[in-house]
Amino acid sequence: MSFASLDLIDGLLRTLESIGYNTPTPIQKQAIPAILAGRDLLGAAQTGTGKTAAFALPLLQRLTMVGEQAAPNHVRCLVLVPTRELADQVYQSFHTYGFNLPLRSAVAYGGVPMEPQLAKLRKGLDVLVATPGRLLDLHRKGELEFGQLTALVLDEADRMLDLGFAADLDLLFAVLPAQRQTLLFSATMPDSIRAMARQLLRDPLTVQASAPNTAARTVRQTVFTTDKRNKAELFVHLLRKEGWGQVLVFVKTRKGVEQLVGLLQGEGIPADSIHGDKPQLARIKALKRFKASAVQILVATDVAARGLDIEALPLVVNFDLPTVAEDYVHRIGRTGRAGAEGEAISLVCADEVELLRAIEKMTGAVLPRREEAGFEADHRVPSTGTPPASATPATRPTAAKPARGAAKPQRPAAKPPAQLRDDTPRPAGGFGALKEDLPPKEKQRSRGPIYGARAGSPGAGSGAGRSGNGGSGGTGGAGGKVVVTATRGAKSAARAAGRAAAKPGGRGNKR
Ligand code: AMP
Repeated sequence: MSFASLDLIDGLLRTLESIGYNTPTPIQKQAIPAILAGRDLLGAAQTGTGKTAAFALPLLQRLTMVGEQAAPNHVRCLVLVPTRELADQVYQSFHTYGFNLPLRSAVAYGGVPMEPQLAKLRKGLDVLVATPGRLLDLHRKGELEFGQLTALVLDEADRMLDLGFAADLDLLFAVLPAQRQTLLFSATMPDSIRAMARQLLRDPLTVQASAPNTAARTVRQTVFTTDKRNKAELFVHLLRKEGWGQVLVFVKTRKGVEQLVGLLQGEGIPADSIHGDKPQLARIKALKRFKASAVQILVATDVAARGLDIEALPLVVNFDLPTVAEDYVHRIGRTGRAGAEGEAISLVCADEVELLRAIEKMTGAVLPRREEAGFEADHRVPSTGTPPASATPATRPTAAKPARGAAKPQRPAAKPPAQLRDDTPRPAGGFGALKEDLPPKEKQRSRGPIYGARAGSPGAGSGAGRSGNGGSGGTGGAGGKVVVTATRGAKSAARAAGRAAAKPGGRGNKR
């Protein structure tokens, strides 16, 4: 199948040809016709499946075909994303795909001066990619109007909820026009996302590219058990022994990130960091240097896990396991992209056994364990008790075990590793001050993130989670099997009724 057979316009086809996209990925094949036809969509899609083009291409086409001009401070299509990095990446995609189209797009997020964003907004925008906090800020200042908005995309919606954006999203949904096309994408489908989908989407097509909650199967995964105090030393040892090239390393806390970077730099290993405490420009610079191979090791917190599209990244290391099991999938999704083989190595200590159990439960696979000679755990990591799954191609060990009886390699006698601490809480949105400034009515609406409150509610089982495990073919890189579930018919009426009831402020005309 070609992109031309999906009825894309010439301006898009020429661009796709020039950037070497010959064949639509499975999610693109399913989503593009539906979005072109104006349908709402629920996409259960991990990164690496080609989901950005799946929504950007048809939206750009619809915006072009309508031919309307965005009035000053108005935006016609809004794309909400959880992090600045993803905002930049999605904006770049819109910019690239829309190169031959007469459309204006921009990106807006916090942590950088607002003025350049305002300047673009004042001309009127066809597409605005934004994080929820900055978007609300712009709206509160009277710089952003939604009267012309026809399309809303929520990308990586699960991540937005994880980062504490539920209340901000509620406020935004309350001011968006009811008549619009809404597309919701999420790598995982917890109950909170299903509840959000029920509230926001009208008769959606559900597209599932790769099974939710299943780690990318093109990624080989291994756990090295060791003691917490030895993790840094083990990392440096493996890096040298295995001759690792570029590595993206995840550490739980910002402080831990900086400690590891300091230690690596002290060992003469080029390393940089990316986390929420760093100014945006420094984050962009670190990412650019990593992409350009100017640094070998990029150490990141989970905030950076989304939206990093680094071509052919061979290895991700979880220096700490994530506190939220879903983040494991997002982290290892940084490797094995676009069909490439990838590898994910986790350094796990006894304290983390519950986190490991949660990951194995969620992915349905037992992660194979190894110990590196000389770095064996004094505090044994207990068994998780997870029964082995029948088909777990992702779990084969990554390297041969040392021969039985082989001499224990000497640990590098270098300086003792810096103590890496993990006492800083996960970032939680960071837009609290904004809420305090809201007028009383909006404050009321923001009380109680409705999606959080609904998590685990009975009857929350419709949507993508019901569409089976059809993605077992894996992401397959910009690919993966896709299951499409049309939810027309009797369920729609029930859902519409539920939607009306669930509206913040109880406005009957809203979706
Ligand atoms: P995404 O899942 O949107 O993050 O996309 C993952 C990667 O696949 C990105 O580097 C895209 O540029 C690439 N990609 C998306 N669609 C295609 C396609 N049809 N052909 C080739 N590469 C693609």
